[in-house]
Amino acid sequence: PTDKPDIFETRESAVRSYCRSWPATFARSQGAKQWDEDGNEYLDFFSGAGALNYGHNNPVVMGPLIEYLQSGAVLHSMDMKTPAKREFLQTFQDLILKPRGLDYSVMFPGPTGTNTVEAALKLARKVTGRQHMLSFTNAFHGMTLGSLSVTGNSMKREGAGIPLTNSSKIPYDDYFDGEVPDFLWLEKVLEDSGSGVDKPAAVIVETVQGEGGLRAARAEWLRALSDLCKKHDILLIVDDVQAGCGRTGSFFSFEEAGIEPDIVCLSKSISGSGLPLALTLFRPELDVWEPGEHNGTFRGNNPAFVTATAAIKTFWADNEFQNQLADTIAELHQRLDTIVEKAEGASIRGRGLLAGVCFEDLEVAEKVAAYAFENGLLLETSGADDEVIKIMPPLTIDSRDLQAGLDIIEAGVAKFAP
Ligand code: PMP
Repeated sequence: PTDKPDIFETRESAVRSYCRSWPATFARSQGAKQWDEDGNEYLDFFSGAGALNYGHNNPVVMGPLIEYLQSGAVLHSMDMKTPAKREFLQTFQDLILKPRGLDYSVMFPGPTGTNTVEAALKLARKVTGRQHMLSFTNAFHGMTLGSLSVTGNSMKREGAGIPLTNSSKIPYDDYFDGEVPDFLWLEKVLEDSGSGVDKPAAVIVETVQGEGGLRAARAEWLRALSDLCKKHDILLIVDDVQAGCGRTGSFFSFEEAGIEPDIVCLSKSISGSGLPLALTLFRPELDVWEPGEHNGTFRGNNPAFVTATAAIKTFWADNEFQNQLADTIAELHQRLDTIVEKAEGASIRGRGLLAGVCFEDLEVAEKVAAYAFENGLLLETSGADDEVIKIMPPLTIDSRDLQAGLDIIEAGVAKFAP
C-alpha cells in the first residue's frame, strides 16, 4: 500500500537491488502464481530465475521440509555427515545418475550457481595444471571473479572494474547464423605451434544460454565440441545451473546430445524448493583435491537436501513427469509458432521450457514484458540488449495457466510487433 514508507527505495542500495525488479511487493506464492501485498494475482513465467521448476510452495517438498524443521534435526550447513545428506546422495545416485549410466562424484561447492562454476574452473586448473579457459559469446556463468571471467556480457564484466584474464570467448553455435557448423578452425588453432594460443584447461558451455538470449546449441554442435575436447585432452564443463533439472525436457540438458561432460554444474532448481543448493559433479578420477582444499560454511544445506530428495523422488522416480513435461513443451512451442507467425520480425529461441521470442526491434521485448506485468504476468527479458522475452514457467504448470500466460504474451506481441 502507498501509505507505507518504502524502505526498498530509501534503505536498499540501488546497486544491490535486482536490476529488473517489478514495481510490486510480493507477499504470497503458490504453484505458477504469485500475489502482491494488495492481493493482485500474477502468473509466473519467471520461476525464480529458474530456481522453482516445480512451482512455488509445492506441497511435495513443503511437507517434508516442515516436518524436518520441526523435528529438531540439524539445520546448519557445515560439511558434516547427516542423515539428510546421506538420503540425498543415495537418491541422486539411484534415481538420477544410475538410470542414465552416469558415473560422477558429487561435491557441494557452496550454496549458489556461481560457487559450482568456481569449483569447476578451479578443479579443472588443478587437474590439468593449465590456466586458460575457453567459453562462449553471450555465456553467463555467474558474478564472482572466476565465473565472471568466463561470462560473455561486457556490462556484467565491467562490474569487476578491471580486465578479467585467463579466458577467451569463442563463437557460440548461433553466432554466424549456422555458417560455421564445426570446430575445424579451433582445431587448427590448437594444433598450430605458431598460433600463440595456450592450450586451455577446460571449455565451459551452456546448452541453452539462459541469460544470454535463449540461444540453444544444436546437438551435433555439442557432440563436435565434446569430440574436440576428448581429442585434445581438454576438460568439458557443462553449466547446467539454469538449463538442468528438467528445464529442457530431460533431467540434464545434455542428454539429448548424448554427450558426457567431465564436469557438470547444477544449482537453482536442484533443491526443488527455492532453497540454496549447488552441486559439482565430476568424473571420479578428477577427484584430486585434498580435504580442505575447497571448503565453505554453507556447503551442505540440510533443509535443501530434504526438499531436493523429495523433489527427485516425486518427479524423477519414473517417466510419468517427464512424459507430461514433453506434452507441456509441445503445447508451449505450438502456441509460440502461431504467435511468432503473426508478428513482424519475431522468432522463437531456446529449447523446452527455457524458451524465448526474439524481436528485430530491440525495444519490443522490454515493452512486451512491461505490458505483461500490467496484465498480471511476470515475464523477464534476456540477452545482452534485452532483445528477447524469456518464457520460463514452472515445469508443473497446467494447461490453463500456460495458455492464460500465452494469451497475455500474444496480446503484447500483437500490440508492439504487429
Ligand atoms: N550459470 C548459469 C547458466 C546461470 O544461469 C546462473 C544464474 N543465472 C549462474 C551460473 C549463477 O548462479 P547464481 O546466481 O546462483 O550464482
